[in-house]
Amino acid sequence: MRTNRQLFRLHMGLPSVEDEPVEIVRAQGIYLYDDQGQAFIDLVSGVSVSNTGHLHPRVVEAIKTQLDQYMHVMVYGKFLQSPQVQLAGKLAEMLPASLDAVYFVSSGSEAIEGAIKLAKRITGRTGMVSFKNAYHGGTAGALSLLGNESLKNAFRPLLPGVVQLDFNDFHQIELISKDIACVVIEPIQAEAGIILPLPSYLGAIRKRCDETGSLLVFDEIQMGFGRTGKMFAFEHSGVVPDILCLAKAMGGGLPLGAFISSHRNMHALTHDPELGHITTFGGHPVSCAASLASIDVLISEQLIESADYKGSLFSQRLINHPAIREVRQAGLMLGVELNENYPIEKVMKSFKKHRLIVDQFLFNESSFRIAPPLTITETEIQAVVDMIIESIDAVINPMEL
Ligand code: PLP
Repeated sequence: MRTNRQLFRLHMGLPSVEDEPVEIVRAQGIYLYDDQGQAFIDLVSGVSVSNTGHLHPRVVEAIKTQLDQYMHVMVYGKFLQSPQVQLAGKLAEMLPASLDAVYFVSSGSEAIEGAIKLAKRITGRTGMVSFKNAYHGGTAGALSLLGNESLKNAFRPLLPGVVQLDFNDFHQIELISKDIACVVIEPIQAEAGIILPLPSYLGAIRKRCDETGSLLVFDEIQMGFGRTGKMFAFEHSGVVPDILCLAKAMGGGLPLGAFISSHRNMHALTHDPELGHITTFGGHPVSCAASLASIDVLISEQLIESADYKGSLFSQRLINHPAIREVRQAGLMLGVELNENYPIEKVMKSFKKHRLIVDQFLFNESSFRIAPPLTITETEIQAVVDMIIESIDAVINPMEL
């Protein structure tokens, strides 16, 4: 009989070559356990998914309760399903009044596709604006918006009429013209290496969209649900989008996404043509039950309020390390940039050896990401920072720097 490792190599379609994948057999809190019984500390959260930690008991209980009632019963929107409507109501209660209609999907990419279609229908236009070094997903529409040629060029032709701007460049904002259906932007850029918007930058984009009649779409698929110290990342700026895209942490560890807009806008997908957007699994009832429980955990355990302080416990110590050039922080999401020519691949290997799960960004070669579950404690953070420093020092002695 073949081992799991052989099956992984022989029969899995994979996005990249992983030399020695860790086989996970269990996860709890901030820990992942492998088939050898070794514990790894999760500083990635499955890329901003496990905000309430792995197997949070209240999330697990909500899932089990829903499982005893029903799982998938019908394609999205035909039957009234309590977990869906309760979650839609909860989101509407937390969001500004203009974001009161939630269209549930199953992933971030699908949320972006829905947003693109909605913007085209509302404006009757086809042009789109996105930003360099932005990642919005792997499907064709999302790929058309991707801000990196090397990842998208092999798949052309993609959607036409996409204009790409440099994030934080105020001068380029005037390139948003009356041909543009939507401007798709992350309120904090994730895969670019945690790039925060300059003060008033998002406000300036909002103003230009109002002038041109283009819809402003915020992709906070990676930054939402407490990660940055607010329930939603756009709250830091005070700028409200026309369409908000969510996924990842939304499902409390299960697949779930949404694009959210006004009831008036959303009408466009329900009429003329009817069935303007269809999904089988969107808003899966078990995922929605997990989502409701994880939102409750985020709020009742004050995980959102503490995210910024916890993040600063990382940044304040790491910034003093001689190998580290910059730490960019948004709550418990950190982009740690090493000094130029520092051998980051070796550092990443050293993290793995020290059983720390850390990863790099798609579009920032000199930085690594720290985004642990928001449930991480202060004591755990201090121990983890010691391990991060030890891992870096194991590559180059700090005295030599
Ligand atoms: N948008 C952002 C900012 C993301 O980080 C991602 C995934 O990493 C996506 C969209 C796509 O989400 P998914 O992988 O769920 O399709």
